[in-house]
Amino acid sequence: MVEHFDLIVIGGGPGGSTLATFVAMQGHRVLLLERELLPVYKIGESLLPATVNGICAMLGVTDELKSAGFVVKQGGTFRWGRNKEPWTFAFSLSSKLRGPTSFAYQVERMKFDTILLNNARRKGVDVRERHAAIDVLLDDNQRVTGVAFRDAAGRHIEGRSRFVVDASGWSTTLARHVGTRIYSQHFRNVAVFGYFSGAKRLPPPNSGNIFCAAFDRGWFWYIPLSDTLTSVGAVIGQESSRLIGDGREVALSRFIQECEPIRELLAGATRVTSGPYGEVRVRTDYSYCHDKFWKPGLALVGDSACFIDPVFSSGVHLATYSALLAARSINSCLGASMTEERAFGEFERRYMREFRYFYDFLLAFYDLDQDLDSYYWSARKVLNSAELGNEAFIQLVAGVGGSGEQLFESHEEFVRQRAGLGSQLFGEIPGQAEDAVSGMVKSGSGRFMTDLFREVSQVQSQATFTTDRVPEMPLFNDGLVPSTDGFHWVEPAVRRSHVVPAV
Ligand code: FAD
Repeated sequence: MVEHFDLIVIGGGPGGSTLATFVAMQGHRVLLLERELLPVYKIGESLLPATVNGICAMLGVTDELKSAGFVVKQGGTFRWGRNKEPWTFAFSLSSKLRGPTSFAYQVERMKFDTILLNNARRKGVDVRERHAAIDVLLDDNQRVTGVAFRDAAGRHIEGRSRFVVDASGWSTTLARHVGTRIYSQHFRNVAVFGYFSGAKRLPPPNSGNIFCAAFDRGWFWYIPLSDTLTSVGAVIGQESSRLIGDGREVALSRFIQECEPIRELLAGATRVTSGPYGEVRVRTDYSYCHDKFWKPGLALVGDSACFIDPVFSSGVHLATYSALLAARSINSCLGASMTEERAFGEFERRYMREFRYFYDFLLAFYDLDQDLDSYYWSARKVLNSAELGNEAFIQLVAGVGGSGEQLFESHEEFVRQRAGLGSQLFGEIPGQAEDAVSGMVKSGSGRFMTDLFREVSQVQSQATFTTDRVPEMPLFNDGLVPSTDGFHWVEPAVRRSHVVPAV
């Protein structure tokens, strides 16, 4: 069986769902293959404002996220560095984030990923769960031309498409077609993590913050996921990983006892031992980057391309931001306005640059013998910024530091308009349109309804995104800029006059 699409996306995590939605919103035919049936457990629960108020607003899921009841994260609290007293930063202290949108969420990924995947379906993506990609298809010139996959019934199918994106996460087997994965020499840590009920909260207004506490073997994350549920994980150096041999549960309990603030917060709490949160899990070797992010016909987004140590919760941000960058490249090529080299060259440079900012700053941040000002100074140096105080630090850890994306910054009216993208369309016929669209995309009938949906979605997004945008400067001398609607690349009206260091 052979099927034809403009784009095939492999993986229905945040990276895959975001990318598929942004391309389908431009009226293209998109197939998304997800191996599992969501909801499924996943780690990666602390989000950044750039994801919640930038990408998620563009996706049109703002209202849904709000009604899901996720814990509001106003910043982070750290016990880190020479000073043993905990210190806190709030996103609202940054001039780029000030206002009602200076927050993010702590999310149960089973709920968050399902919201994004269902949204992709609503926006016209042909989402197929329990469908596993086997490999990409190549032509004689080694260009990727599609995907061989297995459906829920075990049948082999060939999907042909102009572009394929691998968003299948850290365990990808397809990214080998694009360069080589290089593991970090510096961040060779191991994470041991579980879930607790009845754990304490930091005092308000910091009760929704992520709390990161260093101890002799590494550091802990402590993430409130609801009034009762807390995600707790130890990130330890390789030298301590032998202790996991005593059993995961024993090792986690031991690390908790060794880290005073975490021990105190967990006094009286019980570890969850059943359901999806019932296991103590371990992850190793999770800091890496590919030396290339694309080849003709195929691009990598999210963990398939790169990932770094989770101390700044950058994983979902990098996945969804790279999805936006790749979507612009694909939309520009499918619209026939740009060559693949030019469009994907911009994607790769911007994505590597964002990864690099987090990586370089982490190198400085992992030096625990520094004081707070020294960390702030390192953030300024990494971003090449003249901002005062902790401004550069907050921008960086909020995901709005280096990208230059106006779409990620807080402009109340702008964000409010973007948020309407999802609900406006279906507001008048609750439920029905959603079922009609996903049903018709699947059955192949009702093409009219699907096309109508895409057209309305496209007109709506274009009208929404063109408000109040000042032209952006390219990030590179010969670089491109986002179109005013945010979904394509365009040549800049003004070129940079000074040299920007290559990354
Ligand atoms: P994923 O979320 O992994 O999604 C990939 C999808 O592809 C999956 O649904 C999978 O089922 C599917 N798939 C795989 N193979 C196939 C196939 N062959 N065919 C079809 N489908 C397939 N990030 C944060 O932002 N905040 C945090 O606090 C945070 N904490 C972390 C802690 C640890 C210890 C680790 C290891 C990571 C953490 N992360 C965190 C990172 C975060 O988990 C990832 O960066 C994020 O999930 C990447 O999203 P993705 O869409 O690229 O991939």
